[in-house]
Amino acid sequence: MKITQLQASKDNYIYILTCEETKMVGVVDPTEAEIVLDWLDNHELELNCIFNTHHHHDHTGGNARLQAKFPECEIVAPAAEYDKIPNIDLPVIDGHGVRLGKLRAQVIDVKGHTKGHVAYWFREENIVFCGDVLFSLGCGRIFEGTPKEMWESLKKLRSLPEETIIYPAHEYTKTNAEFALTVEKNNPLLQNYVTKIRKMRYENKPTVPSLLAVEKAINPFLRCDIPQFKKAVNMEDVSDLEVFTEIRARKDSF
Ligand code: ZN
Ligand code: FE
Repeated sequence: MKITQLQASKDNYIYILTCEETKMVGVVDPTEAEIVLDWLDNHELELNCIFNTHHHHDHTGGNARLQAKFPECEIVAPAAEYDKIPNIDLPVIDGHGVRLGKLRAQVIDVKGHTKGHVAYWFREENIVFCGDVLFSLGCGRIFEGTPKEMWESLKKLRSLPEETIIYPAHEYTKTNAEFALTVEKNNPLLQNYVTKIRKMRYENKPTVPSLLAVEKAINPFLRCDIPQFKKAVNMEDVSDLEVFTEIRARKDSF
């Protein structure tokens, strides 16, 4: 699989996936059509598939124009958001398998940010597109779900193989990093990583994708049940979910 990362609408990332064997092309969360159309044009390729992680406009805004240009292009999107995303061809639920040429992905239900949010896990490639659920050093806001749903979804993503590369939909890492430092300032891995992130953003380089093993060691939202973390936030006797809820609330007002 070849992945092209395009930056759009300030801090969104659009990912173009190419199955190198079949030359079939898919796009994950096209916030806008123009930049995708330009890329396809330059590479003389057609679009076969759109993968939406959830219904928010900054993830689906390009759907209609792309499908108008490529009528055969299928829209794969969460069944639970069928009424919110127009023209879904393949509504998916947890456990479904989807294909792009020879590439296969498994759908994972990661509700919390929205009611039907899904992730697309390309198991053989060790890649997951996680939309607005898991960010580098952060997690999405809880708009439609509950803290419990979000925490369960994050644990699902955390349980993927450590070598999984995570592809979030936004470049939020710098702010997330500054927040993470206020939570677990004595984590040496986090300190080092934040130094790296500041430099990368200063040079205007993307900080994603990121490695799951790294996120597990430094992302506060993946660490709410780790004794070391609970100690750092003075919540040793508090339930995992309550720790998560508290940290998420602090981030909301950061
Ligand atoms: Zn969103
Ligand atoms: Fe978003």
